[in-house]
Amino acid sequence: MHYQILQGTFVPRPTLPPLDATKDFATCCLEKGCASEEDLATIYALPNPPLVPLTVEDLYVRRCRLAGTAVDQKGGCFRKQDLPLLLKLVQGAPALIGHNHQSIAIARFFGGNIEQLGEYEYIVPKLYWLKDHSRAEDLRLEIDGGLVTEASIAFVFQQATCNLCERDLRLCQHQVGEWYDGVLCHYWYDGIESVLEGSLVYRGAEPFTAFLPNQLPSSLPPSSPQTPNQMLLVKWNKKVWKLVEYSDGVDSTPIDTFRETANG
Ligand SMILES: [Zn+2]
Repeated sequence: MHYQILQGTFVPRPTLPPLDATKDFATCCLEKGCASEEDLATIYALPNPPLVPLTVEDLYVRRCRLAGTAVDQKGGCFRKQDLPLLLKLVQGAPALIGHNHQSIAIARFFGGNIEQLGEYEYIVPKLYWLKDHSRAEDLRLEIDGGLVTEASIAFVFQQATCNLCERDLRLCQHQVGEWYDGVLCHYWYDGIESVLEGSLVYRGAEPFTAFLPNQLPSSLPPSSPQTPNQMLLVKWNKKVWKLVEYSDGVDSTPIDTFRETANG
């Protein structure tokens, strides 16, 4: 049995995590075309690359926050460890409008990476289209001007697995969207087999999908030492652990062995 997920409405959208738009835009390319030689090399490394030699001047390139670890409106969710596979499967996939599978691609996905957004992670592939296409400028204006803002992925997977009991959702007693001892029931997309396409949509089933400026290698800021926001000492497993919270995660380091005493 295979499921194909397109859209639905079920789980309430979570609260938007805080974003630093100033920081995001400062590292992104907002020029019109915004393609790099690295982008071009990645495109020509795709299966079925372009038939003719293209240059960076021929392309429009943007990024797309396409899918991630937030529960979508049908109650489905990608596991964090499956995101590298999902990003791999989206390479070369077509970009459509509104999951119209009777149409052909208006752009094509390539490259990209996995990015943190608040408590979630998302695959953020790039997409390119050709400036010489008769509708190219319209598409660029719609994305850059903020008219087209959300995306949705169509994919094939093998099993919907309950997050509460890790069984096939069709065989367990839990109901998606119901709360059990303070935990919301949802399901995992397991056995991901393929990505059919990614679409520009009026609303994405998963929250926080978006289109973003391209990031050129030369525009990325140099890495700098991180300043910890706070430090916490905890006792666990008979050791004292130093937990240091950074803006993009938590680093835990054992610093001492904790010896329990009779008095606790
Ligand atoms: Zn269950």
